[in-house]
Amino acid sequence: MTSVLWLRRDLRLHDHPALAEAAAAGPVLPLFVADPTLLASSGAPRLAALHDALTALRPTYDDALVVRYGRPEEVVPAVVREVGATSVHVTAEPTPYGRRRDARVARALAALDDDGVVLDETGSPYAVTPGRVLKDDGEPYKVFTPFSKAWKEHGWRRPADIPRDLRWLTGVDSEAVPGAGAAAAVGHMDLPDVTEAAARERWHDFLDGDLERYAEDRNRPDLRATSELSVHLKYGTVHPRTLLADVAAHPAARSKGAQHFVSELAWREFYADVLWHHPGSAWADLRPGLSRIAYEDPDGAAAERFAAWCEGRTGFPFVDAGMRQLHREGWIHNRVRMVVASFLVKDLHVWWPHGARYFMAHLRDGDIASNSHGWQWVAGTGTDAAPYFRVFNPVAQGMRFDPNGDYVRRYVPELAHVPGAAVHEPWTVLDGLAHGYPERVVDHRVEREEALRRYEAARA
Ligand code: FAD
Repeated sequence: MTSVLWLRRDLRLHDHPALAEAAAAGPVLPLFVADPTLLASSGAPRLAALHDALTALRPTYDDALVVRYGRPEEVVPAVVREVGATSVHVTAEPTPYGRRRDARVARALAALDDDGVVLDETGSPYAVTPGRVLKDDGEPYKVFTPFSKAWKEHGWRRPADIPRDLRWLTGVDSEAVPGAGAAAAVGHMDLPDVTEAAARERWHDFLDGDLERYAEDRNRPDLRATSELSVHLKYGTVHPRTLLADVAAHPAARSKGAQHFVSELAWREFYADVLWHHPGSAWADLRPGLSRIAYEDPDGAAAERFAAWCEGRTGFPFVDAGMRQLHREGWIHNRVRMVVASFLVKDLHVWWPHGARYFMAHLRDGDIASNSHGWQWVAGTGTDAAPYFRVFNPVAQGMRFDPNGDYVRRYVPELAHVPGAAVHEPWTVLDGLAHGYPERVVDHRVEREEALRRYEAARA
């Protein structure tokens, strides 16, 4: 009996539990629905990544992949009818939009003639499906450390094998893979291949290379010592369970680096879990205590300053390097994400969703759970929030985490002539601003005080 495998963020062959379920029922038709809602909300780097991943999946799936455009609640039942499928298999999608969409599709399938068709969910894009890890009293966790402990105790299954009796249903008409326009538009950017093969290659390089020193080097954007797998995790060209199983089997499994890496994966799982329990936190403050913070713009300069932040011309080199890395690579190192986010919220006093939206439009790994909660961590309104009174000093952060200034010089050509760590304070160097690098848009010390004043007022 034919089944449909409706693909979403699981664009791979290996370790694919929903594919294994589908294959157990008979020939499998892999379907990707180019949903206009999702296409409209994805920035060009993300759409280009999707285009890459789907294009590479075609030959991997023996050219059986079918792409159709339209609303999933119309397209999926139509394809089921067209091929006479008796089941539809998916990897469960825990985001608010995904859950609403899947509920609509499940209803439409149930209403098909005869007995209807069930939307069968297996696994999720996480090691532990969001919503599963609960406190003893049945309540969800709100703080990372106890969540991560319980998450590890809960454990996860071993990776699923490629089904031995896998048969694809070929010869069904397909439309073009979405995102070709976006891929052309970002042709000038320095983007990695987002395919299952590229994910596995990058992963094995990292596993046998930087993993061992990850604990020491992960905060150093100049070294590029992190896995850079986030875009692969976003589209499921690799599954986190594969990563966790490989780490556990690696000779360095007990190293601090390995432990730290697992802990970072746990942050991703934690934020997905928080979003599952609190769908409203996608775009609103999770903790309302500080939501009365003032974002008024008395001198009318906020729009211009926001533009300076977006374009990487705030006059603070570590911040500007980060925003220019975003435009060049669709990715920013985690340490720098924290610094640029803090600068926008606490130095420029712009409400975090503006920054979060900008990130979602430009990041290749833009992910609603990690992004919105990452921003709220910085703003002090999420779970586990950094204390609201911690305001990153963009110069001190640069000096500490880019000690030789290599990261800044890599992305800010106007400062290429400034040697060493002095690049973090070009205004102290005689010809520091001689090649077009701008003056600072604000005085960090003044704005830090202003941020604290606004936070205190909101708390009162
Ligand atoms: P590694 O250091 O190699 O970590 C391995 C994996 O662990 C990552 O790929 C990621 O899946 C997960 N991870 C690591 N750090 C975090 C973290 N702090 N929170 C959640 N998961 C983490 N991550 C996204 O995937 N998408 C986003 O849209 C996103 N937006 C962010 C916005 C802000 C303001 C901040 C502070 C962080 C954001 N992050 C986001 C988290 C983090 O910055 C990226 O996951 C990380 O930089 C990706 O690089 P990597 O794959 O080399 O990470």
